[in-house]
Amino acid sequence: MREATRGEAIARAAETPHIILNAPLVGQRLGYAELSGLDLLELFAFIHPARFAVPTPAGLSRSAGLDPPSSESEAASILQRIAGALIERLTAPGWPEREGAWTVNASLHRLGWGWAPLVAKRLERPERGERMLFSRLPQWEELGDRPPPLAARVDPTDAQSKLAQLTGSNAEPREGQKAMASAAASVFAARKSRDGPNMLLAEAGTGIGKTLAYLAPASLWAERSAGTVWVSTFTKALQRQLDSEGPRLFADAAERAKRIVVRKGRENYLCLLNLEDALQGGFAGRAAILAQLVGRWAAYTRDGDMVGGDLPGWLPSLFRRAGSTALTDRRGECVYGGCPHYRRCFIERAERAGREADLVIANHALVMINAARSREIAPQQIVFDEGHHLFDAADSTFAICFGGQESIELRRWIVGPEGKSRGRRRGLAARLMDVASYDDEGAVALEQAIEASRALPSDGWLGRIAEGAAFGPIEGLLAEVRGTVYARAKAQDAGYGLETELAEPDGALVGAAAAAHEALEALQKPLAVLSRRLEAVLEDAPDWLDSQARARVDGAINGLHWRRETLAAWGALLARIGGPADEDFVDWLAVDRIDGREFDVAINRRWLDPTRPLAEVVLKPAQGVLVTSATLRGGDGWETAEQRTGATHLDCKVGQFEADSPFDYRACSQVLIVTDVKQGDLAGLAGAYARLIEAAQGGTLGLFTAIQRLKAVHARIADRLARDGLPLLAQHVDPIDPGTLVDIFRDDPHASLLGTDALRDGVDVPGESLRLVIMERVPWPRPTVLHAARRMAGGGSAYDDRVVRARLAQAFGRLIRREGDRGVFVILSAAMPSRLLRAFPRDVEVSRVPLDEAIARVRNVFANDPAVVSVGERRSEAVADRD
Ligand code: SF4
Repeated sequence: MREATRGEAIARAAETPHIILNAPLVGQRLGYAELSGLDLLELFAFIHPARFAVPTPAGLSRSAGLDPPSSESEAASILQRIAGALIERLTAPGWPEREGAWTVNASLHRLGWGWAPLVAKRLERPERGERMLFSRLPQWEELGDRPPPLAARVDPTDAQSKLAQLTGSNAEPREGQKAMASAAASVFAARKSRDGPNMLLAEAGTGIGKTLAYLAPASLWAERSAGTVWVSTFTKALQRQLDSEGPRLFADAAERAKRIVVRKGRENYLCLLNLEDALQGGFAGRAAILAQLVGRWAAYTRDGDMVGGDLPGWLPSLFRRAGSTALTDRRGECVYGGCPHYRRCFIERAERAGREADLVIANHALVMINAARSREIAPQQIVFDEGHHLFDAADSTFAICFGGQESIELRRWIVGPEGKSRGRRRGLAARLMDVASYDDEGAVALEQAIEASRALPSDGWLGRIAEGAAFGPIEGLLAEVRGTVYARAKAQDAGYGLETELAEPDGALVGAAAAAHEALEALQKPLAVLSRRLEAVLEDAPDWLDSQARARVDGAINGLHWRRETLAAWGALLARIGGPADEDFVDWLAVDRIDGREFDVAINRRWLDPTRPLAEVVLKPAQGVLVTSATLRGGDGWETAEQRTGATHLDCKVGQFEADSPFDYRACSQVLIVTDVKQGDLAGLAGAYARLIEAAQGGTLGLFTAIQRLKAVHARIADRLARDGLPLLAQHVDPIDPGTLVDIFRDDPHASLLGTDALRDGVDVPGESLRLVIMERVPWPRPTVLHAARRMAGGGSAYDDRVVRARLAQAFGRLIRREGDRGVFVILSAAMPSRLLRAFPRDVEVSRVPLDEAIARVRNVFANDPAVVSVGERRSEAVADRD
């Protein structure tokens, strides 16, 4: 090991494969995107599929059983030792993931995987051939329908006893937690009103322990009634946390796996048929190597969840995301019973397990989609945790987007692969071949549907409409939409999305919309006939209709059902062009772009108030609903909480509960509003970030409202901080998924992380790793068409204030997660109106100070913090290393 300049490092790495940790990230830092070599993370994923490791020298050292490096130079030299320790495991007699390794490595060898020859030297060829991956996976059992839940009562005292049992004798339940468990029990009583569920809104400050407070009555009710409670979250962080509470409820692992099931949308899971296709030559080059590593993982995964489950989040990004989405069932092409892996399918298994479970841990989107258009029974008892996100989740779930990307997906679903496209994708005709040969009327409808779907855009549509060569009525409409947007839109961020209100359309747009509407109707009709014929086939139950064929026809009916609903919604949207606007909706035209490159053209529709469909579809049919959050009111009154959860649309009484956080915010936190960083002064902003991060010695979460400013600040300060031993990670800059960025940030108290909205909500980092939050400016909503409409309906600037207060409350909430945490919250904007300050906890001290004083205060707060002191030592070492 020796030091090298950037240029020499690139030259050496280009000619000889080097041991690297995270090639895309190192390549990006070197300014050499094509960097490749022997990536330790790939080796780890091969040896320990479905195990978690933080993808840093320290994280991987721990996973390999080595002491983490204590300096930068040690971090470089330890890579070789990690490689050695991992390779040694191949010969260890107790290596639990041995089965399948030899066969997969042989395939990887053929694909030119760099580690394969080294692995092959250590791996003994098994005496008997290894079982095929697919035959190793367990099969699910078909079960009868579960009877409806029995009537059951949970008294407040029962809930409290259960809570005491869950918290254990060491941890006395806190008063707020006990009160919440009692209040939450009311949700599970017999429903009192015809018009709505037992509903409770509960604002429980951070540190109350609200998770166990609702799990206590929920688990009791599930046990007594033999029913299921759905616990819905917005972020993966909370989903993981809930899952980790499982051992308190069921100590036995097998029992736990049956009684608590995590459910996600089907696009999260590995589709075995897609994997088989990829392994058999459907993928080439690096994507084929990824497919082999995913195949290794598939044999050991708990549930087949590729996004946020036990597939390391960093694995797809090592392959620059090539192929990983093609391994899931994103396009709804599942052939159900027609699939050779149906009985082993992860999605089918999760769905069946969910039906039998006491607790289903899901997310808001899945709960809403299930209630809106599922072949499953809608959830009856629901706990919405992170309830402050219900509005946004409903907003996107009930959104309608009629654009090029959506309509080409529909065409592919119906027609199947066309032109040069590869893969196993099949159209409707291939999926329903046996039905078509049995039922003539169905066969004709299928033919007509395929014919009509050719009016939808096909590959290359974006290029054609940009060149004025649109083909067919839908491409014709999209060309008009695009023209209108470019003519009317006021550019916001250069190179990013453009939009304009759907108002006063000109004659050409109205004409194009009418032609497109006709084309959609021509498609609607045969799809409706086909649905009816499929239902008739199910009723006839011919001899060939075994349980698998039945499942496939059922799947097609289900798929047709929601595609017809989509078509109807698109039709309604088009019918409105040229006519009066529907005041329940906000409609606009958009050209979506990233860095100046167009990727979609669309007509969008959102509910002005998306909690209306939420109330109709999810809340009213449910028996009991608890909505909870630490910031449910977002610094406002209960009226705000009712508006943002759909409670205002129910005719029944909705209960309220509140418990203050037990933390002494005055003692453990402060808010600093910096008065002398000028808006628009990028150099000043970057300098402020760097100095504040230095004062806290890392441990900083920096939040931005615009990606461009985030990138600009990062570019100015990352090197300077790195030289001082303070790593700076950044969303939208580092080629790593946000979940992994947070894992790295959490693991290193010296690291800092810059990000946008998603990080404001999804970061749960208790302890010293997060001690300073910096917001670059007041997080006003972006001035979009949708925002303008909601602002007007919601009381003008009062609406904006509510949005900002909710955001500030969320951002501040990242800081103090548990007893003993300390933190400072800094806003680099003098233009912070005092009326917004009630977003923060009542007793926290808020000061307006110049930057120098803010820096001095931050330094002062953490002067004796062990994490900061140890960074100081590390920093001296980094400087010594450099010198
Ligand atoms: S049943 Fe459907 S989702 Fe499951 S493996 Fe087969 S095609 Fe994929």
